[in-house]
Amino acid sequence: MAKIKAIRGMNDILPEQSPVWQYLENTVKDVLSAYGYSELRMPIVEQTSLFKRSIGEVTDIVEKEMYTFEDRNGDSLTLRPEGTASCVRAAEEHGLLFNQMQRFWYQGPMFRYERPQKGRYRQFHQIGVETFGMANADIDAEVILLSARLWKHLGLLDSVTLQLNSLGSNEARADYKAALVEYLSARKDQLDEDSLRRLDSNPLRILDSKDPDTQVVLNDAPVLSDYLDEESRSHFSELTSILDAAGISYEINPRLVRGLDYYCKTVFEWVTDKLGAQGTVCAGGRYDGLVQQLGGRATPAVGFAMGVERLILLLEILDLIPDKVKLPFDLYLSAEVKGMQSEVVLLADRLRDQIPGLRVRIHCGGLKNIKQKAQQSGAPVVLLVKQSENRTLCGTIWHQDEPAFDLSEAQMVEKITDCYSA
Ligand code: ATP
Ligand code: MG
Repeated sequence: MAKIKAIRGMNDILPEQSPVWQYLENTVKDVLSAYGYSELRMPIVEQTSLFKRSIGEVTDIVEKEMYTFEDRNGDSLTLRPEGTASCVRAAEEHGLLFNQMQRFWYQGPMFRYERPQKGRYRQFHQIGVETFGMANADIDAEVILLSARLWKHLGLLDSVTLQLNSLGSNEARADYKAALVEYLSARKDQLDEDSLRRLDSNPLRILDSKDPDTQVVLNDAPVLSDYLDEESRSHFSELTSILDAAGISYEINPRLVRGLDYYCKTVFEWVTDKLGAQGTVCAGGRYDGLVQQLGGRATPAVGFAMGVERLILLLEILDLIPDKVKLPFDLYLSAEVKGMQSEVVLLADRLRDQIPGLRVRIHCGGLKNIKQKAQQSGAPVVLLVKQSENRTLCGTIWHQDEPAFDLSEAQMVEKITDCYSA
């Protein structure tokens, strides 16, 4: 019988890979906690209407990327393609939004039926941040600074650039849309097929087109910044002045629009040139209208989501994963001679008690060529024990090819502590 395989575009994260995931997740958690954000865990499945109403009926996601199915009750459900809509739904449902200032984060798998390729999968993972109840540009700046701090911690700051734009108010955007449609309608013969289709449904997305001919047409198209309302203009200049003061560099990209309908005012992306076409590792912006659109009271909001797979690819390409992260243990412990299983198990636990954080893996099984086996484990420290003549434990520690023989247990602890903190 043919073996059953995983679904295309949905990946297993193997034991060799998961330490890298944990390293990234832990680094993100440390940064988030430094800014006082709290975690919100949402279900993976929501009512289909939630995404239709928030992301927008004529976006790529809703038109062709959602995993939608009927449950046994005949209700239309969807595997979440992103986290913002669920986060708003959850926060609103539990009364966390009205008249409150909130800072949330979430993480987990998202699902989109896209063509799988490097950096683009059907099940992928995001870590996202959403803030509510804060209308001024200081919070836009905070979420950007937070992401910049994360890049700094990961060693990525030189490999990503920040692109910024303002989409203006809904009214300003509607005026701009009309001007753009008028301009492009007169040049339909030069547009690619996707852009033609979007001319009626979602014209702003045409700005995002990668088609060379369409790009030529766009070069002389009206620009959004000429249509910005006064409030959006001052919001944007407030934001850029905070970023300037904080020493965060950015590029203003007047064609930056997002694939989801709910954004207004600030939008931003962190992009890298090291991942080919899948170069956006983090994207977000302000969505002041969404809470109301989903039935709540008007609540300003700003957030972003980062693509975990893409960040991991980037860390790997740039060789930025610390050695310690790649190996799940610091010390490999084995007996040198038979009949000491119990001593080894108990010694390992005493070492764990005495050296907090020490990761010990014990050798179980045959002892043939044990020294080579232990060293081949890759552990930075290897400890082989036997019984001395007076029935106490006696150990040899190998660290960076240097042996230290005949150590008492107290000496083992001392030596391992030295190696561990080195
Ligand atoms: P793209 O333009 O690359 O399709 P998007 O605008 O659809 O991205 P968002 O919905 O803003 O992406 O999601 C935020 C981030 O999640 C992206 O910047 C990216 O890093 C990641 N992401 C989005 N879709 C996928 C996917 N199919 N596979 C892996 N990562 C993804
Ligand atoms: Mg996409």
